[in-house]
Amino acid sequence: MPIHEKSLIRPENLVEHEDLFIDGVDVSGHWSTFINPRALTDYNEEMQEEISALPGGEHIHRCWQCGSCTNACTVNALNPDFNPRYWIYLIRNGMEQELLIDKDIIWQCVSCNKCTYACPRDVNPEGVMKATAHWLEMKGHTEKKPSMIFDEGFSEQVIHTGKIEDGLVIRQFFARTGQKLTQNWLVSMVVSLAKRMPVALGFKMGLATVFHPRTRGWDRSRAAIEEYVQEKHAEQRKALGLGEEA
Ligand code: SF4
Ligand code: SF4
Repeated sequence: MPIHEKSLIRPENLVEHEDLFIDGVDVSGHWSTFINPRALTDYNEEMQEEISALPGGEHIHRCWQCGSCTNACTVNALNPDFNPRYWIYLIRNGMEQELLIDKDIIWQCVSCNKCTYACPRDVNPEGVMKATAHWLEMKGHTEKKPSMIFDEGFSEQVIHTGKIEDGLVIRQFFARTGQKLTQNWLVSMVVSLAKRMPVALGFKMGLATVFHPRTRGWDRSRAAIEEYVQEKHAEQRKALGLGEEA
């Protein structure tokens, strides 16, 4: 028997009677709350398989619903609607329409991995959150979220140069998400970092910003990684029942 979820009862299915007496007893208002029956006909029986096909979602089938991930979760402490255990429950039961109710908050996972360390079944809930956010985007339920845009920019740079230049990653991320580089918090963070940074390291980072260094002899590795990434993308789209990428 699955865990009973209050949130599975939709508000429109709760009915109260304003003026109701049963055997002379006044049961008006919330005393007479009824739940209209609801038949679920919109199961996505492939849902667990689809999430499992995306990076991070591979071990979702191991979940035994203990709730340790949600108890440990950084974002849940701020917003109780952010509930990894509940979403894993919905995915495993193919309840796609229920999951879509929360589609705009799932991406807010901050990848702190507290859930991953708390999970007794090695489900990797953080990975499941990433896979779910990715699934939502690939299926067209949500737009590409900032965390995905960041990951893409980061990976692109590693694949193309074999190195990471932090300044470029940040500049690209801000440009792609339409944010100004002159935001107060960013300026004060850079100033504070610059004050503490050893001169040699600052000089090295300055050179990297200008010359964009690459790992020597990287071209063959790059070609192999690009081929692998394309293969994986094609496999993922097939698993989700999507056509070839345009
Ligand atoms: S990684 Fe995401 S889901 Fe896990 S505890 Fe951190 S915020 Fe919560
Ligand atoms: S901690 Fe692991 S086993 Fe427990 S509910 Fe979360 S994902 Fe499932």
